[in-house]
Amino acid sequence: MSGRTHALVPAGLASVVFQGDPLLTLTAALAGLAPDIDEPESVIGQRCWLLAWWIKYVFGHRTMSHSLVMVALVALLGFCVALPIPFIVAICVGVLSHVVLDAYSGGVLLWWPSKTRWVLGRYPVYGVLDRILMGIGVLLTIGMLIVRMQIEMGTIQNG
Ligand SMILES: [Zn+2]
Repeated sequence: MSGRTHALVPAGLASVVFQGDPLLTLTAALAGLAPDIDEPESVIGQRCWLLAWWIKYVFGHRTMSHSLVMVALVALLGFCVALPIPFIVAICVGVLSHVVLDAYSGGVLLWWPSKTRWVLGRYPVYGVLDRILMGIGVLLTIGMLIVRMQIEMGTIQNG
């Protein structure tokens, strides 16, 4: 899927899970871009191109960074640096949603280092499914942020 969808789908999911918390929503959106660090042409790869080239050369695209190993590594890293649990969950939502979304556009090596490709579909990266999922992500994110604002404003007015 496209970078915008990789950011907006986990943003929508996190906004529901964390009831519109803007910081956790943003965390999930940014984490949703992270697995494409193995592609120098991606949104994150263009900003960290040296690392992106190295990862692509050593591991290949949609391999280690698109696997359950990556999800476990970021969770472990989060625990090691004592991140609050909600942030670790938001990061895992972002990375895991990326893996699932890419499984719909050609597949990923979910069980890396196994070479078995996990494929849920072969939809084009910038196709109709990408746009539909992006739209759902936008609606969920905006809707939950509005709900959160109303709750916060009600709390301020009532006490
Ligand atoms: Zn990807």
